[in-house]
Amino acid sequence: MINIQKILDDIAKEMANETDRGKVADYIPQLAHVDPNQFGIAVATPDGQVYTAGDAGTLFSIQSISKVFTLTIGLGKLGNALWTHVGREPSGDPFNSIMMLEHESGRPRNPFINAGAIAVVDAIMMGHEPKETLGEILQFVRFIADDDSISFDHKVAASEMAHKDRNASLAYFMKSFGRLKHDVDKVLGTYFHQCSIAMNCQQLAQAGLFLVSNGINEHTGVRVINAQRSRRINSLMMMCGHYDGSGEFAYRVGLPGKSGVGGGILTIAPGEGSIAVWSPGLDHIGNSKLGTKALELFVQETGWSVFGD
Ligand code: GLN
Repeated sequence: MINIQKILDDIAKEMANETDRGKVADYIPQLAHVDPNQFGIAVATPDGQVYTAGDAGTLFSIQSISKVFTLTIGLGKLGNALWTHVGREPSGDPFNSIMMLEHESGRPRNPFINAGAIAVVDAIMMGHEPKETLGEILQFVRFIADDDSISFDHKVAASEMAHKDRNASLAYFMKSFGRLKHDVDKVLGTYFHQCSIAMNCQQLAQAGLFLVSNGINEHTGVRVINAQRSRRINSLMMMCGHYDGSGEFAYRVGLPGKSGVGGGILTIAPGEGSIAVWSPGLDHIGNSKLGTKALELFVQETGWSVFGD
């Protein structure tokens, strides 16, 4: 029997001694204030258990991890038609890159790079005001995490809006190809708020449970999506969830995962559990440095990689 709690305690202890913690994202000024000396990890298993260690109860900005949730909503609303808005191939480029957009008529390569997530949010707005779409996104996240206390961090969203130049460029570039249907500022405002959702590791691990068990949260008995869709979302997380670091993450961890510049990573071990880690210091690609290291250790100890023990 694996002792998950002991594994997490050991990892948290080891991470506390790390000196090379990466660099906190500062292009969103509100995130630059976060203390890099924090580390949290939580594992939720289908039987309803949640194991935690370190700062697993501290709220952080989930940032691009939210793209998994809007992708799920988008597929629910549009079905396969979502793939006319966005592709499903790894980009091999940074998360905020504009390069491939020109080659592919403004269609982003996948839903997890910024351009892709902006295209997804435009697709799910369907003529509605940002408030309504944001209400829907928040309701969905609260539902899958089974936690009504989850909310936006309006200061983070405002901070990103005030420094929107790169994302605005991506949005206008896509719009020039006729790709976005709504007003660019409304789409960006919605996107920045979805990224600003504040969660802790425990809530995030619980939110991932439906992807562990073929679309069902086994503990609550609720089916969120069908099995085929769950498998497909996991495959996108594996191939594209860490941008140009996706190959490295698959090599080191071997699980579907989605990172965010807030320093969080949501990782799915199909059939086993959902693992959320958080440490604000990032590597040069923008993925949590200690978070990745902790997941590498966790998979070594548990044998939960999809590629074998
Ligand atoms: N909100 C961030 C941005 O648009 C998300 C980036 C990320 O988490 N990689 O830049």
